Amino acid sequence: MPAPLDPQLLEILACPSEDHAPLRTEGDELVCTSCGRAYPLVDGIPVLLLDEARVPGSSEAGLPGGSEAGLPGGSEAGLPDDPAPASR
Ligand SMILES: [Zn+2]
Repeated sequence: MPAPLDPQLLEILACPSEDHAPLRTEGDELVCTSCGRAYPLVDGIPVLLLDEARVPGSSEAGLPGGSEAGLPGGSEAGLPDDPAPASR
């Protein structure tokens, strides 16, 4: 069990998001009381980075907004029936 975060430190910490809301400890994470983002504690040091935050309600995979990756019919994606006449 790691040492709990210093309550005085916790008091001055705030969510790096727009809400700047106070944080509460939850397990080994700091959870924003407003937006609910969870920030990891690494070796007792809170990592208050939006990039590192776990956003509630989003996919657990941690892919940041990757909804464009799976578009079918890309122009270069290796169409199977390419009748390119090889000239040799
Ligand atoms: Zn927040």
